[in-house]
Amino acid sequence: MKLVVLGSPGVGKGTYTQELVQKYNLLHISTGDLFRENLKSETELGVQAKSFMDAGQLVPDEVTIGMVKERLSRDDANDNFVLDGFPRTIAQAEALTDITPIDMVINFKADKDVILGRLGGRIICRKCGQIFHKQNIPPKQDGICDTCGGELYERDDDKPEAIEKRLVVYEEQTSPLIGFYTEKGLLREVTVNEDFGTHKEEIMNRIFKVIDEK
Ligand code: AMP
Repeated sequence: MKLVVLGSPGVGKGTYTQELVQKYNLLHISTGDLFRENLKSETELGVQAKSFMDAGQLVPDEVTIGMVKERLSRDDANDNFVLDGFPRTIAQAEALTDITPIDMVINFKADKDVILGRLGGRIICRKCGQIFHKQNIPPKQDGICDTCGGELYERDDDKPEAIEKRLVVYEEQTSPLIGFYTEKGLLREVTVNEDFGTHKEEIMNRIFKVIDEK
């Protein structure tokens, strides 16, 4: 299955995607993670992306599309992957259509007040990338990952100014993808207003059902 996940910053896309990866044994291709890895190892791509990421803006299409194309050309990216954080513009979606056909696009939705509440509290494991939330999905031990014992940190672009910018960028550049994929008959929508920490099973069953109904 070739899956794309869409959703506003704060909707919980990364958290649901981690569960989908396990259940369907998918390769997780997150452009944000790829950029962060490049930043960490100070590659040229990382240097190119840094200023855009820090400001909560999108990295230019040609850079992003080139990176995804390269990733999808590797042997492990066969017919079983989930693209998380890509595409984010119509130009990227069109480029993806040329690279490989997608089976399904899931758009995660939540009410505005729920989204605002989820933003800002995210903490991530430096080692394995597991996502927690200070209030909604707290780790068992403060600052330590439940899964691998790694250190938890807050992303620079989860600071209030960058969050605001990311929401605007999403509305302006990414939300048009909903129409794009609806027209292609690929879009499925799942609304998630409940807290993941207390409603994990119910939420994930709702998402699995949408995927299995295909
Ligand atoms: P994410 O982890 O998906 O929230 O991505 C973090 C940051 O990486 C974004 O705010 C962008 O600066 C950059 N980024 C990730 N994916 C893309 C994309 N598809 N197009 C452009 N920039 C991206």
